[in-house]
Amino acid sequence: MHEWSIAFMILDALEDLAKSEGLSNVHFVEVSYGSVMELDGSLLKEALTELSKGGSFESVEFSVVEEPTVFRCSRCGNEWEFSHELIEGDRKVLEEGVEESSVHFIPELAPALIKCPKCQSRDFQAIKGKGIRVSRLEGSR
Ligand SMILES: [Zn+2]
Repeated sequence: MHEWSIAFMILDALEDLAKSEGLSNVHFVEVSYGSVMELDGSLLKEALTELSKGGSFESVEFSVVEEPTVFRCSRCGNEWEFSHELIEGDRKVLEEGVEESSVHFIPELAPALIKCPKCQSRDFQAIKGKGIRVSRLEGSR
């Protein structure tokens, strides 16, 4: 699943991050992801907890928070927050009860599916809540 592979990448990055921060005993990690990624936060948290078992982050308390993705239009300067309703032509495929949008799998696809709500331009950038990041790291040296 998507969330599990992301959790794996986060844990990998955490090793380096803890090392560069000089933390030997990490006890709290907060992960923030942009709403455009449409992740399942509780599933990601579960994956982080499961995958860290037996490793150096075993006793870490994980927190996963969603932050709004904000876009800015390069043409008219309009700024708006991502919401799923903005995706045009996002026909959800309902097959055998499985409902998934294409954006869930490839966040990079979002700009191709969204237009500026004000001027309809596709020339815009994510200025906030773009991807996934470790927003807080607590531990002892
Ligand atoms: Zn615009």
